[in-house]
Amino acid sequence: MWIGGDWLPAENGETFASANPYTGEDWARFPRAGARDVDRAVQAAHAAFTEGDWPRWTASARGAALVRLSGLIAENADRLAEIEVRDNGKLLAEMSNQCRYMANWYAYYGGMADKVEGRVPPIDKPGVVNMVTYEPVGVCALITPWNSPLLLLAWKLAPALAAGNTVVIKPSEYTTASTVELMHLVEAAGIPPGVVNVVTGFGQEAGMPLVTHPLVRKVAFTGGEAAGREINAAAARDFKKVTLELGGKSPNIVFDDADLDAAVPGAVSGIFAASGQTCIAGSRLLLHESLHDEFLDRLVGLAKAARLGDPMDPETNISPVATAAQHDKILSCIETARGEGARCVLGGNSARPAGSGGYFVEPTIFDGVRNDMRIAQEEVFGPVLSVLTFRDEHEAVAIANDVLYGLAAGVWTCDLNRALRMSRRLQAGTVWVNTYRSTSYTTPFGGWKRSGLGHENGREAIMEYLQPKSVWLAE
Ligand code: NAD
Repeated sequence: MWIGGDWLPAENGETFASANPYTGEDWARFPRAGARDVDRAVQAAHAAFTEGDWPRWTASARGAALVRLSGLIAENADRLAEIEVRDNGKLLAEMSNQCRYMANWYAYYGGMADKVEGRVPPIDKPGVVNMVTYEPVGVCALITPWNSPLLLLAWKLAPALAAGNTVVIKPSEYTTASTVELMHLVEAAGIPPGVVNVVTGFGQEAGMPLVTHPLVRKVAFTGGEAAGREINAAAARDFKKVTLELGGKSPNIVFDDADLDAAVPGAVSGIFAASGQTCIAGSRLLLHESLHDEFLDRLVGLAKAARLGDPMDPETNISPVATAAQHDKILSCIETARGEGARCVLGGNSARPAGSGGYFVEPTIFDGVRNDMRIAQEEVFGPVLSVLTFRDEHEAVAIANDVLYGLAAGVWTCDLNRALRMSRRLQAGTVWVNTYRSTSYTTPFGGWKRSGLGHENGREAIMEYLQPKSVWLAE
């Protein structure tokens, strides 16, 4: 673990293994942190915040360090991506793009560090000046999931550091390696010891003690709904700030005037990219009834051609799911859908390509899904698509919004007025029109309804790591 600028084992000497999802074999071991290790890391971050130089560096100097880190990440992107693939089994091509793109977060927030300006509001009292400044909140706990470990860390770490905070990171127990590796680059970028710390271990043993530690003032979490609810409740007891990025059941809506040459591949990559293990997966495909048969034919044809295999092989389209538990959960969702009367028109089974010791699920498509079925309401986090139909715009909106989540939505249409109407009426933090899955450091990302609290990315995110202070000066 990386604590206060030192590499440390867990105090009790315990370790845990990380398995490669493609081979099924353990390939790395990490210290298994408990509450005492977490306390050591938080104390290091607290000392760096209260006694260290970092919050007192000029904002420009902090920004320059983040820009250096961005450059180092770009230079090391392929190596970081390979490490991530060994841990989470996603396609090397996708992770290489992601790791290269991820460098931009550090440059973007590095550039923003010295653009956080306070203000002097006019005051209705004579002889008084009031200054509003924006100050860092203190020690931030950053807790990340396994599906895109370094990208989702960048969404938190870059704005947290730009704002002048210090942090303790708890990566997923399934994908620890790349975050640990990143610490070499954090050090090389000249970020002082204790500003960034990493504890490695499990949610209850390391994550919860971090959330409840009295010196932690802010928790930023990406993960599942159950853990999010527990974290939110625990943080609320001490009135800590929280950002929660949770799950989704996003609708991908295709109108009868859509360009099907774009919409069919859009629907396929919307759900099957990363074997469906993305929070933004377009897992409910809403088709206008007039194009249902043609669209489904083309969709099944394209999805059928996908090749399952080694994520390091550039010819592979579908990689394993990340863990045995995830594999079993996906299959149980498929069984539930069958039991509810949904019609499986593609896949529906476990698979294991020759040479792999890991866990695969075939790209699976259910037709004839009603929106009140569990397969249409609950997040699967796997390569399983539900197909529903609608008669008109009004019904499309009603079905799309009739779900507890509100992370993202897709609309495929050539009618600009309809695109505008739909983007206004959909209850989601992100709406894509004639595209799907785009995100950027420049634009806010956050869930409505049960998909989360607060925002990451864009100008909005840095405010999540700052607090206003009102200073009164009298003559
Ligand atoms: P998870 O909730 O099991 O774990 C996420 C992280 O939280 C891990 O580091 C884990 O160790 C930790 N954790 C778990 N329980 C905890 C607890 N009680 N206290 C403190 N920490 C705890 O999620 P996962 O299985 O790793 O990731 C999949 C989930 O993440 C999916 O539901 C997916 O939709 C969601 N996700 C959301 C986004 C988004 O931006 N909205 C992005 C990616 C993934």
